[in-house]
Amino acid sequence: MRIIVIGAGIVGMATAWWLAQDGHAVTVVDKESAPGRGTSFANGAQLSYSYVAPMASPSVLRNLPKWLLKSDSPIRFVPSADPAQWRWIAQFLAACTAGRSAATTAKMLALSLHSRAMLHAMMARTPMAFDHAANGKLIVHSSRANMDDAVAQLRVQAALGCEQQALGAAECLALEPGLSSIADRLVGGIYTPSEEVGDCRKLCEELMRVLAAAPFGVEFRLGTEVRRIVVQGGRVRAVETAGGALEAELYVLAAGTGSRALGRGAGVRTNILPIRGYSITAAVRQSNLAPVRSITDTHVKTVYAPLGGTLRVAGFAEIAGEGTDIRPDRIATLVDNVARTFPGACDLEDVHPWAGLRPATPPDMPAIGRSRVENLLLNLGQGSLGFTLAAGSAKLLADLVAGRPPAVNAADFAPA
Ligand SMILES: Cc1cc2nc3c(=O)[nH]c(=O)nc-3n(C[C@H](O)[C@H](O)[C@H](O)COP(=O)(O)OP(=O)(O)OC[C@H]3O[C@@H](n4cnc5c(N)ncnc54)[C@H](O)[C@@H]3O)c2cc1C
Repeated sequence: MRIIVIGAGIVGMATAWWLAQDGHAVTVVDKESAPGRGTSFANGAQLSYSYVAPMASPSVLRNLPKWLLKSDSPIRFVPSADPAQWRWIAQFLAACTAGRSAATTAKMLALSLHSRAMLHAMMARTPMAFDHAANGKLIVHSSRANMDDAVAQLRVQAALGCEQQALGAAECLALEPGLSSIADRLVGGIYTPSEEVGDCRKLCEELMRVLAAAPFGVEFRLGTEVRRIVVQGGRVRAVETAGGALEAELYVLAAGTGSRALGRGAGVRTNILPIRGYSITAAVRQSNLAPVRSITDTHVKTVYAPLGGTLRVAGFAEIAGEGTDIRPDRIATLVDNVARTFPGACDLEDVHPWAGLRPATPPDMPAIGRSRVENLLLNLGQGSLGFTLAAGSAKLLADLVAGRPPAVNAADFAPA
């Protein structure tokens, strides 16, 4: 079948991979001149398969007033006149119950564990260089209440197939001596040996290299903005681009936060809100002072990932429109967090700053599958976990196209 995938971020590229495996004639269209130039460019680098509990949870609700009032809060909300924003927030708040949060976690774990298997299958088929490492992840806590919540979550997830360990402060330091500068505030941590890291942009580029060649022969139309998805009689007839109309039998919308406008034009509501975050990438100067594993420090809401001789550091969640302008105070905070947590580890004079938009849905679950337009499928809304979930989301979509029974329950992710 001739299939057009709109979006060459990690979700679109993984989708192209699995569709091409099934022998479809795939064309990937993106407005940027290379793949992985949107939110997939410099994210937190975590393949965080066991940490998929949604942002919408009772603890977020509890902490929200405090976060919104603090000027240096990791969470920021700029109210707008856009009714879609208010609708999104109302649905987010409604999803913050213990019951809904637990149900979402179970569904997301099924997708994320499937995603790990599918990424490994892709890597087994073709070696790809993207600084991938299975180095484990340690989430450290500085408050007893947070640690207790994390241990309760660990017990729930153990029943769902996650292998994690609760560690005391001394055990965290034995595992990651680089954390010694924050030893006085450490209460404990949750360690997951099976977690992985990788460079999402590099994986997008590697996927393009592999897919463009035989036997896949995927066509890439880069530097090609899709202006409109043309729908007639309940079917997509074409996608309209600056370079003319492109036609196929099936279309997949995987354009990250760009899916919102394109979906709206086609009469499909995606319910995505862009949530801005920031990262810095710094060269590691003294490897004995840098972390070996991925570290999440919940006290400062910052993640650190060792990535091919650099440290990728990410954080912040801002509901503040669609811009990706980089706020210097946010970058300064990330630099400061590295300097305090891993002093001397990195060259902090020359960091690469970045900002990106998480394509987030209110319950923090992606929408994967058929839309109300007959030949338009969606693969979007992976939010803060798009790198982690891309391979499994893409395989699910390819299974739906092929009419194969998928490994996860497709109804859990069916677009509303
Ligand atoms: C600070 C931060 C840290 C993060 N850390 C992690 C992490 O550690 N682990 C993790 O799993 N996830 C993480 N994420 C989330 C992850 O980066 C995203 O979920 C993921 O990149 C989304 O991929 P995507 O392909 O859906 O979107 P994108 O990567 O944004 O790709 C969408 C593509 O569509 C194209 N496009 C849009 N509109 C059009 C149009 N009209 N015409 C043509 N092309 C169009 C864009 O150019 C873009 O290339 C993080 C996000 C942020 C912001």
